[in-house]
Amino acid sequence: MKITENIKMLEIPEPKGDFYRPTLTWDDEHLVLFDTGIPGMGALIAEEIKKAGFKPEDLTDIIITHQDIDHIGGALELLKLAPDAKVYGYEVDAPFIEGTETPTKLALMQGKLDSGEIDETDSFYQMLKTGFAKSHLPVDVKLKDGEVLDFCGGIETVFTPGHTPGHATFYLQKSKIMVCGDAANIVDGKLVGSNPAMTWDNEKAEASLEKIKSFDLAGVICYHTGFLEFK
Ligand SMILES: [Zn+2]
Repeated sequence: MKITENIKMLEIPEPKGDFYRPTLTWDDEHLVLFDTGIPGMGALIAEEIKKAGFKPEDLTDIIITHQDIDHIGGALELLKLAPDAKVYGYEVDAPFIEGTETPTKLALMQGKLDSGEIDETDSFYQMLKTGFAKSHLPVDVKLKDGEVLDFCGGIETVFTPGHTPGHATFYLQKSKIMVCGDAANIVDGKLVGSNPAMTWDNEKAEASLEKIKSFDLAGVICYHTGFLEFK
């Protein structure tokens, strides 16, 4: 779905029958991708990049909103196609993306395993364990709150913890579009926060939703629930 002249929300079919929505934005010198799906999804995203009129090898920047497997999983596959692309992540989530810390959701499931609430055969646990084992990647640029990347009309980092400890959303300054990752969702045409069932800290997530709403917004892109335009 084309959002503006230089923003496209990709729609990649996911296992549960819905879509993941990595976002593509560009200018004369940069082709930027926000989030990369689960492991194995790199080729599908590469196809969508071609449909948008680019070559996957033209990717210059991959920005990760947060550490979860459905956001980092296709990054290494895309980096094989575009080895010079720079990877960005918020400084708090970077160690989880790089694998120097156990990812938040995997740690949660390991806790359930230790307490006997689940056993080794639990499918979500297995998916996270095997998925992360092959998905960790170096984060070249560790972002801070308020930092602005000086391309594609200005990309402002907005620290929005809650869904994970280091979740960030990205404000595309020229178009006033917020790339929300999982910090916000659209339910019945309204902007709501992170899905509570998948949230690390609900109180922080609620504050983050208010922070997102405080921006001058033309629209929001939510990774799991789509695009909402504000008139
Ligand atoms: Zn997600």
